[in-house]
Amino acid sequence: MPQLPDSRRIAGRKPVAQRRFLSSILDETLHALRHLAEKGSRGFDCSEHSLSVLNSWKRTAGDRRQATDRCPQPAATLPEPPELTPVAAPCESSDPPASAFADSLESIQTDMGDCRRCKLSKTRTRIVFGEGSPGAGLMFVGEAPGFDEDQQGMPFVGKAGQLLTRIIHAINLTRDQVYICNVIKCRPPGNRNPEPDEILACSPFLNRQIASIQPEFICALGTFAAQTLLKTTQPISRLRGRFYDYNGIRLLPTFHPSYLLRNPDKKREVWEDMKLLMNEMTP
Ligand code: URA
Repeated sequence: MPQLPDSRRIAGRKPVAQRRFLSSILDETLHALRHLAEKGSRGFDCSEHSLSVLNSWKRTAGDRRQATDRCPQPAATLPEPPELTPVAAPCESSDPPASAFADSLESIQTDMGDCRRCKLSKTRTRIVFGEGSPGAGLMFVGEAPGFDEDQQGMPFVGKAGQLLTRIIHAINLTRDQVYICNVIKCRPPGNRNPEPDEILACSPFLNRQIASIQPEFICALGTFAAQTLLKTTQPISRLRGRFYDYNGIRLLPTFHPSYLLRNPDKKREVWEDMKLLMNEMTP
């Protein structure tokens, strides 16, 4: 069941951004549940009743969003592709925060359980849910667990993870001050790329993690995280280096640490990205 928000983290978020965020999360969740219902999935509660409850929440969020459409119009963060979300302009409102619908990380992990929703469950050793502060202002989203993560059940603990840890330290933070997770929670065999059905089955959990944490910033690590969250097919080399709006959250794509291990000359660009992030994070 939805839980009340953690007031520590909610204070800074603009109500309009919260409503857009909620509406979009509900849209994506409904879309995924409908798809799973059509496929006859038994792993999720995609009953008619649950879908109608979600629909009624969506209508409520949508009504509120219409009210906020009178607010100053947003400026686009990126001229293309058109499907990328524009930045929402701030607007005061006394409506309850969208985060009132967000679940705790614990309950999301409980829902995930010993997940069998996609074929990766047959080959994984451990589910890698994510770790870090539930009140983090900055969230790193990677692609998928690799060998070490699959063994240990924790994200970014192998060689790429050690590099990510150094990047986090370089922006004067520690791993326990941020939140780290992946688009998909189980290791693809042989570290192959995640497949669309795996992303579809797992993305409701990522969406719920983001809704629960409500970070001010997301750093999307690599192609899969950036393309999945921004719903684009543009290459990471084109996406990196600037902020995008992700449901009211400022999202910065950058190169994946594994890519940096193979292409150390690209570290300079990641450092440029991290300086951008630090500048924006500093009040
Ligand atoms: N690469 C990722 O994308 N995630 C991890 O957790 C480890 C390596």
